[in-house]
Parts: sequence; C-alpha cells; structure tokens
Amino acid sequence: MAQSYAQIVVDVPTQQTNRPYTYDVPDELAAQVQPGVRVLVAFGHRSVLGYVVGLTEALPEDLTEAQVKDVLTVLDERPVLSSELLELAHDLAKKNFSFWVAFLALMLPTALKASYRKELTAKAGLSDSDRVAYLDGQKQVLVKMKAFSAKGWRAIRNLQKNGLLDVRTVVENQGKVKTELAYKTNADLEVLQKIDNELSKGAKQQRRLLNFAMAHPGQTFSKKDWQAQLDCSLASLNTAVNKGILEKVQVEVKRRPAIMGAKALSGSLQGQKKVLNDEQQAAYDRVTSAIEKGQNKVFLLEGITGSGKTEVYLQAAQKAIDRGEQVLFLVPEIALTPQMQRRVEERFGDKTALLHSGLSSGERYDEWRRIHDGQVQVVVGARSAVFAPLDRLGLIIVDEEHESSYSQSENPHYSARDVALFRANYHQAPVVLGSATPSLESRARAQKGVYELLTLTKRANPEASLPQVDIVDMRQVQLDRGDTNFSQELLDKLKAHLKRGEQAVLMLNRRGFSSFVMCRDCGYVPRDPNCNLAMTLHMDSRTLKCHYCDYQEPIPRICPACGSNRIRYYGTGTEKVETELQALLPDYPVIRLDQDTTRRKGAMGKALSDFGEKKAQILLGTQMVAKGLDFPDVTLVGVLNADTGLGLPDFRASEKTFQLLTQVAGRAGRAKAQGEVVIQTFNPEHYALKYAEKHDYEGFYRQEMAIRHAAEFPPYYYTIQIQCSSPDENRVSLQTAKIAAWLKKRLPKDVLLLGPSPRSIAKMKGRFFFQMILKMKKQNEADELLRDLVDRSQKADQDFRLEVRRDPVSFM
Ligand code: ADP
Ligand code: ZN
Repeated sequence: MAQSYAQIVVDVPTQQTNRPYTYDVPDELAAQVQPGVRVLVAFGHRSVLGYVVGLTEALPEDLTEAQVKDVLTVLDERPVLSSELLELAHDLAKKNFSFWVAFLALMLPTALKASYRKELTAKAGLSDSDRVAYLDGQKQVLVKMKAFSAKGWRAIRNLQKNGLLDVRTVVENQGKVKTELAYKTNADLEVLQKIDNELSKGAKQQRRLLNFAMAHPGQTFSKKDWQAQLDCSLASLNTAVNKGILEKVQVEVKRRPAIMGAKALSGSLQGQKKVLNDEQQAAYDRVTSAIEKGQNKVFLLEGITGSGKTEVYLQAAQKAIDRGEQVLFLVPEIALTPQMQRRVEERFGDKTALLHSGLSSGERYDEWRRIHDGQVQVVVGARSAVFAPLDRLGLIIVDEEHESSYSQSENPHYSARDVALFRANYHQAPVVLGSATPSLESRARAQKGVYELLTLTKRANPEASLPQVDIVDMRQVQLDRGDTNFSQELLDKLKAHLKRGEQAVLMLNRRGFSSFVMCRDCGYVPRDPNCNLAMTLHMDSRTLKCHYCDYQEPIPRICPACGSNRIRYYGTGTEKVETELQALLPDYPVIRLDQDTTRRKGAMGKALSDFGEKKAQILLGTQMVAKGLDFPDVTLVGVLNADTGLGLPDFRASEKTFQLLTQVAGRAGRAKAQGEVVIQTFNPEHYALKYAEKHDYEGFYRQEMAIRHAAEFPPYYYTIQIQCSSPDENRVSLQTAKIAAWLKKRLPKDVLLLGPSPRSIAKMKGRFFFQMILKMKKQNEADELLRDLVDRSQKADQDFRLEVRRDPVSFM
C-alpha cells in the first residue's frame, strides 16, 4: 500500500500556523482519513484538533520522513465538511484577512466543536495548599482552559516543571446524540409462539401485545407509539419485556425546533399556492428557466412590500425541489418570524430544516445532521445557515438582501450574501436577491447588467394598495404640546383606526441613544465606566444599563457633577412610550416587542400570535416590528422618531433610514382596508423621508447614488476598515498613527486612506478603538499589503489587536 500523507489545518489560530501541515497517515487509519474529517494531531508539545483539507501520496520536498508526525486519531466517521466547504473556507480566509481554521470551525455547529480540557494529576510531593488551589483537593481533575487565569496556568506550569503535577490535554467531542427509550419486538417467532402457549387466559393486555409482536416481529416502536397504538400502560410494556415478548432499546431521536406560537397566527397564512399575477409570473419564469438550465445567474428581485416576493421564492423553490435539488433560503434573523417559518413549513413540511439563533445547541446540531444526512430539501435560516452542508443546491434565495445583519462584523468577518454567490457559482445554480429596498451595491450591479433586475410594482393582494404616508414635524408639536411622543395627528388617527376595530403598529427607532439620563442644569450624562456610553434607563428595575456590556447601576437622584436635583431622563424608550400611550388611550391594551420583552425563548412568537388573535390592537416595538410581519388588520403604522438613525457617523445613515421607513410602512394596509402611515420627525425636509413618503425607491436610489459619487463612497468605491484596539489609549493612538504612516508610504497612489480616528464608540469592554478607512476603485488593490500588515501585527504585543474588515456595514 502506498504511503500517504494528509494536509491538515490545525486548530491554532495564529498567522504563523495559518497553513496546512503535513502529517503521516498510519495504515490502520488510512480508510478513515479523508478530506473533511477532523483529527487529533500532535502539534509542538500539545495534541490539537485538526481539519484534513487534502491528501498526498508523496512527501513534500522540503520535509524528511523524520520531521513528519502521525495522525493520532480520527474524530469523524465520515467527512463533516465537503470539498466545496473546504474550498470556501480557504477562499474566505484569504479574502477576509482571517484564519483558515476560524472559517472551518465556523461552518460546523458548536456542538461539534471540540472543547479542550486539561487533566491535572497530583504527583508525590505536591503540597496540600497547591492541591486545594489547583485540584480542588483531589488526586485528579479535568478542568476547562478558562478554569484558571494566566497567572494560575503559569503556576501550574511551574508545578509541572518541578515534577509535582502531571498535565495532559484532553479533547472532548461535544456532539451528543439524544436517545430515547423504545421497545423492540422479539424477532424469533418460535419463541413468541411458545410464550403464546404459556400465556394465561386473563392476561388480555399481554395477549394483545403478543399478537402485535407476532404480526411485526423484530420491529422497533417508541414508547409513545406503543401507547398510542395499543393503548397499553407502561407497566404492561415492562411485563412484556420480562416475558421476552419485547426488548428495551435506545433509539436516536432528532430534536426538531417547534414553531412557537405559530399555530394561532393570523388567517392570511394559507399554505396553498397562489395563482401568480403577471409580474410575479414573469419573475418566476426567469428564475425557473435558470434553474432548469443549471445557470449561475444572479437575479435582483426588487418588489415593493407586499408585492408577493415570498410567493415567488416559494414557487421557484418548489421547481428546484421537483428536480431533486435543494434550496437554501436565507432571511435576516429579525425577519425570521414565526409567520415566515410557518409559511415555509406548510409548503415543504418535514423536508425543511430551520437554523436560527433561537435554537439550543442540541437542536442546532440535530438540524445540521438532518441536512448532512441528506434528509432535507429546504434550509431556512439566518446568516450562518449559508454554510449548511447541502450538496445538491439548485437555488439560493437571499430575502431582504440589503440587511446589514448578513455581514458578520465579529471575527472572522464575512458576508453571507457573498458566500451565497460563491456557493451558487460552485453548484451552477441561480441566486435570487430580493428586497423592497435593495442595497445600493446590488441595485447598481443590476444597473450595469451584472445582475438581472426583476421588478414587482403592485401589491399582490389585488384588493390592497400602498398606504398613504404623512410626515409630521415634531419641532412644532413639541412647541405646542410640550414633551410628548405623540403628535395630535397620530393620536387622532390611532383613535379612528382603533375605533373601527383595526390594528396599529408603532415603531420607536432605537438606533442611536435615546433613553438616557441628563442633568438639566449642567448637561451631565451618566456613562458606564467600561464603554463610556450613555446608559439606557430601565424603569422596571429602576436602573441604568449599558447595552453593550450590560453594566448597570441605580438611577442617580442628584447630579454627581454639579449637585443639582434636576437630573432627569431624556429621550425615550419603549417602556416610557407604553406608559404615555396607556395614559392617552386607557381602553386599548398594548403588546410591546423589544429586546427586553423577547429575551425569553418563544416570547416573540407568543407576542405575535397574541397580536394576530387580536388580544391587543396596538403593537409597539423597536425595529423588530418593521420586518416581515403580515397582519391583514393592521391599517395604521406610526413611526415615533424617524430621525435617530440619521445622525450616525456612517455614510449609509440615509440609506438605512429610508430602508427602515419603507419596511415599516409596508406593514400597513396589506389587505382590503386602506392603510395609513404617520412618520414623526425633527427633519421633515430630509430626502430619505421625502422619498419614503412617496414610496419612491428608484428616486431615492438616483439621488443617493449622486451623493455617493460626489463623496467617493460605495458603490463607486470599495471600502476596507482597519480597526486597532488596546486597553491602553495612548498606545493604540500612537500605534495606529504609525501604521497609518507605514501604509501611506506603501499604498498604491489611487487608494485613499481616511483617519485614523477614534471610533464613535471609542471605548468598549475596557478597550479603546481607532479606525482607518481605505477607499479604492479596484477591489483587491491593497490585499497584499494588508496581509503583510496583519502578519506584522500578529507579532506585536498581546494587548494590541488589529482587524481588517472588507466592505464594512457599520462604522460605529
Ligand atoms: P412580500 O414578500 O413581497 O412582502 P408576500 O409574498 O408576503 O410579499 O405577499 C404579501 C401578501 O400577498 C401575502 O399575504 C400573500 O399571501 C399574498 N399574495 C402573494 N401572492 C399573491 C397572489 N398571486 N395572489 C393573491 N395573494 C397573493
Ligand atoms: Zn458598558
């Protein structure tokens, strides 16, 4: 048998180890070691997890047999990563200046990720106090890496060096399979016959069980099935075991996430197919023709809210499924409402897998395995679902393609939209990017013919039309009526709609810092000591909280800066609006939807189904209420503060505001009754609001493109963000300036460097942040240089961190 070697990426995320290493494959493991399996290998003095990314027959020339270590053991019976995903991980790491292994790990459910533990064993001579400090007083313990601080580990290393302690690395596979008790019938008919002869006349239950067993020898049924089918007690099942009729077995069960509260959702959600209107049909024809031809085309489906985009997705998906292909359906987390889940499940039933952040790690693991086992035809999920292990992809849908949540800002950075394009290209399948308000980047690509533009201009429900939008100037309202969240106009409309038995959605835009305490005399604002952010007021717990690090403290009565007692809250939160609303309209209960009320699992589904059942006529919430909701009786939408997002230090502030207003306005008038929208603002003349008022995406697109062109921003330029951080403000500011100077000397002439400047949230979780922005015409112009920079920064000291983000979607 030919000697073979494996190329293995080890789970040591550093720049120096960001490449495959060659390992020897021992003969006895040769059958199991394949690309895509995880293995345990020796690395330095440790044993670490590794991912097999390739196999070679010959030893690479720069290595000798003696230098090559062997694979210690194989963790997976069959590959957990396909060759497509291996290639994708490599590509993403290169493009996003991150580690290969970080992407390999990202593609697998957390339950599969190995967790490392150390086994500490006391040796002769270890003092009692050390034994208490490190071994919990025992002879041997298994501890997590985070059980001790760096200081603790240093001490442990010293004990080890002095021969007082043994330290061993243990890798644990966390992927636990859930099993349940089941009963299997005896397969031996002769034995059953013998039992039959011996069974007493009175044993009716046993007789029935026995007859069933003789009719189904050697078959396994769950406890529930036995009880449901034969109506027998647990005791009689166990008696049958004692008699030898049945045998107890453990069978594997896969946890399926339930759709919380979906059962009671509104009546508009019939599962059956709709007859497409002309525009829908035209879009459907283009997409399905690409599916049939196996064409890697990208469609941009630009359709106003309620125009029936989802119906087009579902019917096109059906086409791919009928051809035996699979469909990946991405939705932003926030739009993955129980309504959407139910719509997909009603169409595709058991063949659907759902992946979203509300799942427990066990549920996530089980959904992943159903996909990996080929039992699934449609995967619906948020960002990370884009890595679902599908191997017969025939169509990829990216709904609300403009959503910034498709871009992961934490390390490793990636854009799910770009990953979708990669995968579709690999499978030669079409992609549908859908939105009422496409990102400027995508819309511009459609303009240039890179994507094919498909448009839906009418509401799909023939009786529905777009709502009438009114903009209300809150500057005047506050002059007339004092500090309030409700203009007279909004109040009057609310009363009128509610009186008719209709429903209203009210949105409080919480981008920006809205509900904080300020001293009316000196202007002092309490900030949290970790992040230096204005803290948010929580009336229920009477505390101030930081929304980034969760630091909290009591509300001060007296200003710590000037001693005044006129320290009051300023701005507003959903709780405060709810209180005011209940005082203004005491007869109408309110359902509140925000981070606080939806933290509990299933709480969002419950709130929405209550609203669907009309247990309340008013739904009040943050941006959460803007996306994807489809309730026929909602005829009024109120936006309480349209402008909090406009002041953000981000070139996309107008685009994001326009998108949000259009989305939320789209919740009104989805059925027969005419909808109305009231937008309250302090900037009534702003163009983002003016175009939202007219439902004019194309007009907004043209004006915003002109502005981006003049300011040299995307989509005319590509941007890359370089972010430096350190707990030491002076160091990071100095170091960032040095890096900027270093870059300026080496960057190609036409690459512009902005900054460095402290980020608008300069301090977070005890670290100070500075950023630089590069702007360039050609996408990859600075890549080489940036890789070099990342490489060098790795060698800098531990506390200094540098991250490079391509096409960042947030500059906060
Ligand atoms: P979008 O995804 O564009 O917001 P949806 O697909 O949710 O739109 O459709 C909006 C509403 O119109 C839904 O209640 C849907 O059931 C209905 N609908 C969609 N297509 C049709 C059609 N061809 N005929 C009648 N009703 C339709
Ligand atoms: Zn904080």
